Amino acid sequence: MSENQSRKPATVGFVSLGCPKASSDAEQILTRLRAEGYSLSGSYEGADLVVVNTCGFIDAAVQESLDAIGEALAENGKVVVTGCLGAKGDVVREAHPSVLAVTGPHATQEVMDAIHIHLPPAHDPFVDLVPPQGIRLTPDHYAYLKISEGCNHRCTFCIIPSLRGDLVSRPVGDVLREAETLAAAGVKELLVISQDTSAYGVDVKYRTGFWGGKPVKTRLYELCNALGDFGIWVRLHYVYPYPSVDDLIPLMKEGRILPYLDVPFQHASGRILKLMKRPASAEKVLDRIRAWRSEVPDLTIRSTFITGFPGETEAEFNELLDFLDEAELDRVGAFAYSDVEGAVANALPDPVPPDLREERRMRLMRHQEDISTRRLERRIGQRMSVLVDDIDEEGAIARSEGDAPEIDGLVIITDGHDLPVGEFAEVMVNDCDVHDLYATLVG
Ligand code: SF4
Repeated sequence: MSENQSRKPATVGFVSLGCPKASSDAEQILTRLRAEGYSLSGSYEGADLVVVNTCGFIDAAVQESLDAIGEALAENGKVVVTGCLGAKGDVVREAHPSVLAVTGPHATQEVMDAIHIHLPPAHDPFVDLVPPQGIRLTPDHYAYLKISEGCNHRCTFCIIPSLRGDLVSRPVGDVLREAETLAAAGVKELLVISQDTSAYGVDVKYRTGFWGGKPVKTRLYELCNALGDFGIWVRLHYVYPYPSVDDLIPLMKEGRILPYLDVPFQHASGRILKLMKRPASAEKVLDRIRAWRSEVPDLTIRSTFITGFPGETEAEFNELLDFLDEAELDRVGAFAYSDVEGAVANALPDPVPPDLREERRMRLMRHQEDISTRRLERRIGQRMSVLVDDIDEEGAIARSEGDAPEIDGLVIITDGHDLPVGEFAEVMVNDCDVHDLYATLVG
């Protein structure tokens, strides 16, 4: 073997499926790999071993994950499985007995242990430099910031708690250190994620941590207030409408965090919410939304709903449509209910036929279209700061404070072809359609 070959770094391929939380796990593994001197490969052939980060949320995701593992085995042969489906090791091993190792989600150390056994690192401190902000899967200008893992709720349609366990909040000092490193590396937008963002710190009784030599409570308000110091966009996802969320509104008013809330309501009928065992389902949601908007008129609220949950009657579905009329949410996503293996809801009486679940989903989305368009029309004539994600033939593809990446709309700057990607721009909104705004630059 030549000296060159003996110094060739061990190379790992990485396939990541699933939600932002899975991406965040993937980023931690990729960072460790690079820190230990592994090379990363975008192709199966170029890799000595492949890690498949799986999703197990719904049956379609399970199948997609199993297919990805099969493909990696066929193309490469050495495969380590991690992520949500990995928590069900028997399902993976039954379908693919030749995988080298199977770990659950949030298991960086176990994945690294498996890689060390099957592909020891060839460390070279001169070439194995890793950027201090770690390796990220998102573009350079935005990043997910995971603040906790697991969930204390037991929504009947969800198996995440059995996959990821109860809520474990990250120490507030660690979260702020990571945010500071990301901001210093040029990140312009932090997307705060977890399974239940409003519950941050509940598990540690809002313990006081330290940041910059000062005490900071492990609680969402204090965390957001401190994140506001970095002077970049801070966007909150997966917030349940507990009364404590009201405390965040002044931080939006002061511009410390974005006037944006992603609140997965899932339904509006009290009986269905009870069957779903949703957190904060007894809160007077419409009153709360009105109060939030009276303080911050430009607050964007996005939500998701499930149609055709077992037992949902036509009247209860109509209650949901009425709620949409009243709440005037800005952005809405909907899923037709589907059984998830192991979920309690599968056994509930009076299942709704699958075509009716889908038909209701489509009805809901059509119903919401006019509402979303009306909300967007309010922006016409407004001047705003937007963050440029990309350039294409239409102009610059940007997002406003009201648009989270990948799930919301866009702001198309028709004369923005020469704008730098990853920077803010000032625009005037001239037009809109159901999802997107159209704008031009202002000097
Ligand atoms: S809040 Fe409910 S849906 Fe969300 S992770 Fe927890 S149990 Fe699942």
